[in-house]
Amino acid sequence: MKTFTKSFTQQEPVPEAAIARAVAVMQSGRLHRYNTEPGEESEAAALEREYAAYQGSDYCVACASGGYALHVALRAAGLEPGEPVLANAYTLAPVPGAIHNAGGRPVFVEIDADWHIDLDDLATKAAASGARFLMLSHMRGHIADMDAIVRVCDTFGVTLIEDCAHTMGARWNGVPSGNFGKVACFSTQTYKHLNSGEGGLLTTSDAEIAARAVVHSGSYMLYGRHGAVPDEDVFRGIRLETPNYSGRMDNLRAAILRPQLRRLDENRARWNARYRVLEQGLRQINSIHLPQRAPAEDYVGSSIQFRPEALGADGIPEFLERCATRGVEVKWFGDPEPKAFTSRFDSWRYLNPPAELPRTLAVLSTTCDMRVPLTFSTDDCRLIVDIVAEVMADL
Ligand SMILES: *Cc1c(COP(=O)(O)O)cnc(C)c1O
Repeated sequence: MKTFTKSFTQQEPVPEAAIARAVAVMQSGRLHRYNTEPGEESEAAALEREYAAYQGSDYCVACASGGYALHVALRAAGLEPGEPVLANAYTLAPVPGAIHNAGGRPVFVEIDADWHIDLDDLATKAAASGARFLMLSHMRGHIADMDAIVRVCDTFGVTLIEDCAHTMGARWNGVPSGNFGKVACFSTQTYKHLNSGEGGLLTTSDAEIAARAVVHSGSYMLYGRHGAVPDEDVFRGIRLETPNYSGRMDNLRAAILRPQLRRLDENRARWNARYRVLEQGLRQINSIHLPQRAPAEDYVGSSIQFRPEALGADGIPEFLERCATRGVEVKWFGDPEPKAFTSRFDSWRYLNPPAELPRTLAVLSTTCDMRVPLTFSTDDCRLIVDIVAEVMADL
């Protein structure tokens, strides 16, 4: 019987260049981003400058986490207390958390069979709620038809904020994910595409939103030491009216991230080589559904989702159990009991009234989810496919 022995949560080591930079920062003792010598650019500022250039945005703010960046994005974009915020219901807990933290009220939108936001339900709920904001999670890297989304947002006067935690490095029609809305947020938490343990990046090309985000992030009056910020006069207009929500990134994390950013495109290709082996293999297995991804979607295959339709929701626990016994760790979004990182809209009970999303629930009831760490080889991915095929054949 074939078994798999590698860990699904093991990342690659941080590159040597990153370790060397981190050591240099520690030797300097100047870990705080504003602790610079005259004329010195801090690591955090350099990261902002380099990430804005990578992303093709005018401005970038480095902060404490992706979830923090999402909350600041809403505040900087002008969310008022109690306002509704549209959001696709298939997302991770920090997203409703960020909306709640910013004083908003999530209005969840259904998803389609391939885990994208449902455009008809988006239009319906935009009209019914009068929401001024859509926080769109490109959940697990599945990018919806962005041209259609932008059209719906324009029709209803909705400001788009993109949660790119799973699409850093991805593109739609050649345009980087994150450049379709007013603001985009990225995470550099260990399980995402760059790894500094924790961390977040906010990008925008709107000068006032950028200035507000910088001051919110905790710049005091030191915003001039940032790496990708608007002119002083933009700050003069907002700096005293904008609360400091202290959530900066430090130089140590920034130092670890800069060399990784240079490898991001190469790593996208490595992730996708693994993803394609899994995708092609799993698709051969009778009754497993995998989406046909749009040609416009240049994704980063850092995880894979599939639905073993024939098993039905009732058959999934047994399937997961048998995979796990043979070392293949599959997560399930259909579990009524939230586990580890995986929870569902109906388990976020602080939201009132509870959302009713029958179509999303039906899709998630059989949605299986697997991480694809770069520590797996393509041969490892073939072995995983073989094991899943054998388990399915035995069920
Ligand atoms: C990880 C994640 C976040 C939040 O990122 P953190 O840096 O962990 O706060 C937001 N949205 C999605 C979809 C995520 O997976």
